Amino acid sequence: MTSIVEQIKERLDIVDVISSYIKVEKAGINWKAKCPFHNEKTPSFFISQTRQNFFCFGCHEKGDVISFVEKYEGLDFKGALENLANRAGIEIKKQDYKRTIENRDRLFEAMEQATISFENNLKKETRIRKYLESRGLDAKTIKEWRLGYANDEWRTLLTNLESKGFTKKELLNVGLIKKVLNEEKYYDTFRGRIMFPIFDNANRVIAFSGRTLKKDANTPKYLNSPETSLFYKSEVLYGFNIAKNYIRKLDYTVLVEGQMDLIMSHKSGVHNTVASSGTALTEIHLKKLQRLSNRIIIAFDADKAGEKAGEGAALMATALGMEVKIAILKEGEDPASLIHTDSESWKKALRESYFYGEHVLNKANSMENENLTMKYIFSNVLPFAAKIKSEIEKEKYIKKIALKLRVSEDNVWRDLTKLVNNEGNTEKEYTIKNENNVSNLERIAVGLILLEESNHKDTTKLRTELQKILGNDRANEIISKYEDEKDFLIFELENYNDFQNFNNISKEVIQRLELNFLKSETRKFAIEMDKKNISEVEYKKIEKEFNRIQNRIRELKN
Ligand SMILES: [Zn+2]
Repeated sequence: MTSIVEQIKERLDIVDVISSYIKVEKAGINWKAKCPFHNEKTPSFFISQTRQNFFCFGCHEKGDVISFVEKYEGLDFKGALENLANRAGIEIKKQDYKRTIENRDRLFEAMEQATISFENNLKKETRIRKYLESRGLDAKTIKEWRLGYANDEWRTLLTNLESKGFTKKELLNVGLIKKVLNEEKYYDTFRGRIMFPIFDNANRVIAFSGRTLKKDANTPKYLNSPETSLFYKSEVLYGFNIAKNYIRKLDYTVLVEGQMDLIMSHKSGVHNTVASSGTALTEIHLKKLQRLSNRIIIAFDADKAGEKAGEGAALMATALGMEVKIAILKEGEDPASLIHTDSESWKKALRESYFYGEHVLNKANSMENENLTMKYIFSNVLPFAAKIKSEIEKEKYIKKIALKLRVSEDNVWRDLTKLVNNEGNTEKEYTIKNENNVSNLERIAVGLILLEESNHKDTTKLRTELQKILGNDRANEIISKYEDEKDFLIFELENYNDFQNFNNISKEVIQRLELNFLKSETRKFAIEMDKKNISEVEYKKIEKEFNRIQNRIRELKN
């Protein structure tokens, strides 16, 4: 008995369904269209007939035929199923629906049980609770946000949830466990981390963000759940489930970066706060907020990275026609630390936040010399002006720029037009750049592995070669690093390369990776041989190795 989902996918082709809504055209082996989920002039929305899925390079929206209908029609999962079943002429019995929904409910239940297990672990971890307390999170707050702890062991959660009747397949599907490459072994995704559950609108846990307290460079500070059928990163904002009603009521959103910032902001009574937390902010996130209120205050960390991310968010929101303000914190400060020391100054910073346009103009004026001012005008002020949607607002703003700079409005308009035209000309399709740089080669290699896997081909040889060149650890690290971007990498390979033959390209990529690796080895040996206190024996040994590498490089170059 095939499920409704399978029946629908058997009868309906994703290209047919999508092209009944928007205009699509053939592009290589795939199809492309102007994205229905964000504003764009050139198509960056791609559909694969072979894999029956879609991906947008502009806003990173992706999914299958069911999630397309869900998103496009604004339906829930069940609604999209009904819509598509109708289209496919499939009659669905009540029990079929029930079974499909039940399967999905089991995934939610697995996440709920994981949350409970993490919460229980935290109760036993005095050291971690002390740490959270030192950051301002008391027992009440921990309970409210359902914070937990994943034990620093390999299979605690797996054993626990299997004993509750969940299968490995279900746990893999929600990203709670991982499988060892080429082996029938499984382990917990999150180990030794403080767990922040991420909720959907119905307050169900759909993902986790885990923070480590370890301070070694190889452990990423935050680890997020992979994308699953419950968790689409480009759509979820941390805290939205609580904040949504307050945003509507207060008619503005406060946007912060991290989970700690968010929790502390709510604790201080600013309940209309959401966080982008770990994933890049997208237009989809902002549109979700805009439906509740057109006004937003951005309060990111007061460091270089936070400032840059804040500018990006401000421009994106302005382009959507939102009214954007920016809260200025003291250099080096973030909302969480500020609230912990003095929650009143947090509220003051929000009250005294500047309109983004004012903020950049003030900044331009505070520059040390005219050169810097002009540079800033072109890199920040005019790009903002260009994004203002309302012509009246734009005109008002141009007046202000002219006044501040003591130049004529005509001149400002002329530069703005030039800038917009240039931008128009440089808006190109997404392409792979710097093919020779190592990280890009690694990216292509992993993309090839994922592409071949999606075609159900054996990738053992390619994986082994990659492990041989880069070493096991590095190979596994980059493969898991790019796992989340699977669709991105696969569509990127298909659309932006003229790879005729898989064998040739993988061989070429592997060779170039090896060449890069050998070159860095050569440099290392050359430095060793140059050392003054090196012994004869030592020198001979290194020289031999050096020559072997040189020969291999010559071999590869031919
Ligand atoms: Zn898009």
